[in-house]
Amino acid sequence: MLLQKYSFGTGDRFGQQGAAQLQAVSKAKEAGVDIAIVWNKSHREHLLVKTNQSDVRREADEAVKNAGWSGSYYVDADHINLSNVDGFLPYSDFFTIDVADFIGEKAAAADLSSFVTKFSSFIGNLDIAGIDESLHINEDKLGAIAEKYLFAVQKAAEIYRYIASQKGEHNFITEVSMDETADPQTPDELFFILAALADYNVPVQTIAPKFTGRFNKGVDYQGDVEQFNGEFNDDICVISHAVSTFNLPQNLKLSVHSGSDKFSIYPGIRRALERHNCGIHVKTAGTTWLEELIGLAESGGDELALVKSIYQKALERSAELSGPYSTVIDIDTQKLPTTEQFSTWDSGQVARSIRHDQSCPDYNPNIRQLLHIGFKIAAELGDTYITAVRNSETEIAKHVCENLFERHIRPLFL
Ligand SMILES: [Zn+2]
Repeated sequence: MLLQKYSFGTGDRFGQQGAAQLQAVSKAKEAGVDIAIVWNKSHREHLLVKTNQSDVRREADEAVKNAGWSGSYYVDADHINLSNVDGFLPYSDFFTIDVADFIGEKAAAADLSSFVTKFSSFIGNLDIAGIDESLHINEDKLGAIAEKYLFAVQKAAEIYRYIASQKGEHNFITEVSMDETADPQTPDELFFILAALADYNVPVQTIAPKFTGRFNKGVDYQGDVEQFNGEFNDDICVISHAVSTFNLPQNLKLSVHSGSDKFSIYPGIRRALERHNCGIHVKTAGTTWLEELIGLAESGGDELALVKSIYQKALERSAELSGPYSTVIDIDTQKLPTTEQFSTWDSGQVARSIRHDQSCPDYNPNIRQLLHIGFKIAAELGDTYITAVRNSETEIAKHVCENLFERHIRPLFL
């Protein structure tokens, strides 16, 4: 199974927006760009929303069948490891093997020294087409990279082989993710991570490094855009060099996690894709559910009241909700309206405060982030929430499609 040049991961917390998400990718096709759609959901998300892996497969298959979509689509077991992959095996054909937790754990001494010996031919100046300055590799650096990453690669290989033994090695796409960690990987680290993945026969088609800067959930990139652009360009060049040097899949490409809403880096990403004629996988951050809230708010009446009650509970429980997300959200609580203030707002104002339109004075990234992590509240509402979403289906679908197509696909690909 070979992943297409462009692919887009669309999370869907409550599993109601598959058709609207597919419509965005269909519009891209009509406009001349082929994008494979990937429905991704993590184990944690399944637990919180109380969904099952089979639900995502059903949603994807139904959306594709109803739309008569002839393009590619996949179901991604997102951020899996050996302890939770089993439930995904029958339903997924894309596996994001997350080994970030193993970064820094040391592999066995014999494995470390054989890795360093094997790749010692790269010691010296390593020239990579497209990167102005040579990478300087010495034995200490190679040893340090091995100590930091080899064990994580061995774990990725172990998980990959387990999935392959269950599904057959050609029947799924392999992504390796290292994004949920504190330090970004440098280009020379990425080069040797790829060397190690090739050495351990992991046919990785997408790799999700930790990029420089903050990729907060549902809001724009926070960091030095020029630095990001430079590193993104270097990473692409490193991948291309690694593919031609080691035995790695030709279509290997970068995967940008929490890639939705990062509007300020899209122009740089787009230029890099054009310059190098390479592909990308963009994984969104579960923000489709915010479009559901916008649609509900605009519906007014009971639906608007429901959004307000979700905000109230999210505000009351913000410490609990933000706990697991501390590295991927930045909420300035001083800039959050009180429940009383929020409750006086009309449909339009509530919707505008959530919608990611930075030119709108009512847009509030703090509200947006708080509600983003507030999906747990909606999940607790169960059928009450799902019924409301279904009642506002048309309005919501319009926002879901428009958000993906106009704010994401168009600036990146069209
Ligand atoms: Zn990730």
